Amino acid sequence: MALHMTRTPRTEDATVDVFASVLSEHVLPKYRMPDGHTPAPAVYSMIHNELLLDGNAAQNLATFCTTWSEDEVHRLMNECIDKNMIDKDEYPQTAEIESRCVNILADLWHAPRAVGAEAAATGCSTTGSSEAAMLGGLALKWRWREARRAAGQSADRPNLLCGPVQVCWEKFARYFDVELRQIPLEPGATGLRAHQIAMYADENTIGVVAILGVTYTCDYEPVAEIAEALDRIQAEHGWDIPIHVDAASGGLVAPFLHPEVVWDFRLDRVVSVNTSGHKYGLAPLGVGWVVWRSADRLPEDLVFKVSYLGGDMPTFALNFSRPGGEIIAQYYLFLRLGREGYRRVHQACADTARHLAGQIAAMGPFTLLYDGQGALPAVSYTLTDPEGAGFSLYDLSDQLRMRGWQVPSYPLPADRETTVIQRILIRHGISRDQTALLAADMRRALAHLTAGSPAAAAERTAFHH
Ligand SMILES: *Cc1c(COP(=O)(O)O)cnc(C)c1O
Repeated sequence: MALHMTRTPRTEDATVDVFASVLSEHVLPKYRMPDGHTPAPAVYSMIHNELLLDGNAAQNLATFCTTWSEDEVHRLMNECIDKNMIDKDEYPQTAEIESRCVNILADLWHAPRAVGAEAAATGCSTTGSSEAAMLGGLALKWRWREARRAAGQSADRPNLLCGPVQVCWEKFARYFDVELRQIPLEPGATGLRAHQIAMYADENTIGVVAILGVTYTCDYEPVAEIAEALDRIQAEHGWDIPIHVDAASGGLVAPFLHPEVVWDFRLDRVVSVNTSGHKYGLAPLGVGWVVWRSADRLPEDLVFKVSYLGGDMPTFALNFSRPGGEIIAQYYLFLRLGREGYRRVHQACADTARHLAGQIAAMGPFTLLYDGQGALPAVSYTLTDPEGAGFSLYDLSDQLRMRGWQVPSYPLPADRETTVIQRILIRHGISRDQTALLAADMRRALAHLTAGSPAAAAERTAFHH
């Protein structure tokens, strides 16, 4: 038994120094709730200090997620701490702002406008792209099943085609009983290639997931070419296979930096798109979006009606209660930055990525794979000679971690898993100066890691003689 408070508890008043308080004399409870209460400032300080061990989010170069927000975002998040977005009746304005965000995204992604009988785009917020992917995948499965049943065909073996997807699609497939046909990477490819699809598609294919911003390589998959491949498959076999674009990161980068890339609702085959508001949408953690090109793409029986301002509010979500602040913060960012603002923020990141890529290329042992141009703002590289380098990328990650930098090393997905790469994401809040400091730390780490290598020994010998 830990912590017997058999002594008369000392009276604690507000004047007691936090680090002289009873709480600070013990390790914090880990298994059992304490019996009594403790002054707020002391508890706050203890937990605050414990969290310092988490590391510095600003040095986390592995994440796509927002790690920096303006004060106004903090204020709005604080003001919305009590808003439950599911409660559309109680918080109708939050619901209104959510639908404005959906409209803005549908417009940004060129959803067709409602003409006559054609329904307009529809969509909703989620906790992130993972939930959005579940919803997009469910809609694909339902639509496919309806069509199969209507044609009197069996509908018990659905499959979904994709390249090197994020784990959320593996979860979707497992949770909702769909066979995931993950198409292996071709040599030299950074994602799914259109000509690969024909070999994997059949009458039970509910859709193809195309990724705008592959997690491993940061590249955009060629959605337009994939759509053409599916047109050919339809002409040949009659299977009308739709595309869902997982634009978790790219959905709020491409419209600003690469407007010429045709990947969105401009392609008829793209029926739905998801994005993470908390990645390049720059909102704080906890918001994603899914949009369908028209309401008829979202099967009726997946939508639950809740009463809202005397009317009916359709909801489609896995969660019930969820904070409203992230949605409000997303709307703030749309208004605050506008298209030009997003373009400048992301362009600055892409420029910084290119600059850092140049420095990394000049360090010697690396072969650059991506310099942040053409897709997500990021840098990736591999060791030119993994056998002869005298260290691995994992060793380098460990060295950088000693200075607080989180730079991940990982193998590429199947069939290129023998290639280990390192990837640095540049996002809002990472300045040129910060990457210069990182580059200096990389050079120091390399000097340290190669100090005992034959190449370094030869250099020392040459120096001494
Ligand atoms: C991040 C990511 C996801 C998961 O998104 P969350 O918002 O973290 O749930 C899905 N797909 C891709 C391509 C991603 O980059």
